[in-house]
Amino acid sequence: MEKKIVIAIDGYSSCGKSTMAKDLARAIGYIYIDSGAMYRAVTLYALQHGLFSGGDIDAEGLRRQMGDIRIGFRLNPQSGRPDTYLNGTNVEGRIRTLEVSAHVSPIATLDFVRQALVEQQRQLGQDKGIVMDGRDIGTTVFPQAELKVFVTASPQIRAQRRYDELKAKGLEADYDDILANVEQRDYIDQHRAVSPLRRADDALLLDNSHMSIDEQKQWLLEQYARVMDGLNTQEA
Ligand code: C5P
Repeated sequence: MEKKIVIAIDGYSSCGKSTMAKDLARAIGYIYIDSGAMYRAVTLYALQHGLFSGGDIDAEGLRRQMGDIRIGFRLNPQSGRPDTYLNGTNVEGRIRTLEVSAHVSPIATLDFVRQALVEQQRQLGQDKGIVMDGRDIGTTVFPQAELKVFVTASPQIRAQRRYDELKAKGLEADYDDILANVEQRDYIDQHRAVSPLRRADDALLLDNSHMSIDEQKQWLLEQYARVMDGLNTQEA
């Protein structure tokens, strides 16, 4: 049986990480996990349970309720991709709104949230054969991942992509609001105390500002093939 590896794809918000990660997982028959969806699901839970007042989060209230939050993924046969479930309800659409995006980074700074989610993420990857995307996958969740990629693109290009994505879904979108959100999340993600966003020393850097989705897909498949060749040579 072919050896399976762990693939960690980290990078800034809205730089197309999840599209790349999902496409790769599908192409090579691996499980895809969107770790950002897990932070988003916790954020949705906090919003639904009145744990935010304005921008302030009732961290103690959330800490007490962490045990009540169950996050899961189930394949959506229509999209061929996993949908996110919160306590048994499909929340895939609800976790992508600007309201959740605007509240998620403060939630992701809380150490007890990160500990709980990192533990679940490691369990999901214990049998390898997984592509996971996020901010700390190559640095904290799977420091031993065989293939690590750090993706980046300019904030303006990322905001434009998110704008186009929302519009295509028929959702309301304002480019300036989205750009402000992208920049604010970059800042919080890079400056938080626990697992700040940074490129792992052994991660490959990919600036996809001027690459098409197909070009990225091709590039990633080549990196995967290179790592697998290396492993097969080592074994031979
Ligand atoms: O990837 P996505 O933009 O959906 O992630 C939402 C937010 O969750 C990020 O802005 C970041 O604050 C947080 N996150 C994180 N660690 C991860 C994945 C996401 O802190 N591994």
